[in-house]
Amino acid sequence: MNSFRLCAAFHCLFEEKIMSDVDLRKIYKFHAIEPAPSPDALPSGGDLYYECADCNDIVPSVIRIRVSCVCGNLCGQSGKLEIKDAAKVKVMRGVLK
Ligand SMILES: [Zn+2]
Repeated sequence: MNSFRLCAAFHCLFEEKIMSDVDLRKIYKFHAIEPAPSPDALPSGGDLYYECADCNDIVPSVIRIRVSCVCGNLCGQSGKLEIKDAAKVKVMRGVLK
């Protein structure tokens, strides 16, 4: 839980919001995965993205840089994504437009 506390701190919300500056929806078409995966075991992969139900932001399920959604529910860096409330995550498959 410690890592999440750090993650929820301001630095993650304001530093290097590179992915959020790029509107992924302009590049990819997203389709929700059916059936919806259990919040306990969210799949991840190069073509999978997580949509935050709180702020509707989309972040990649596999990250290489520091990213966070607008509200901070999804937040991570160095390949490790922290999810505050997995029940508010919708797994989407992204297809290049
Ligand atoms: Zn959010």
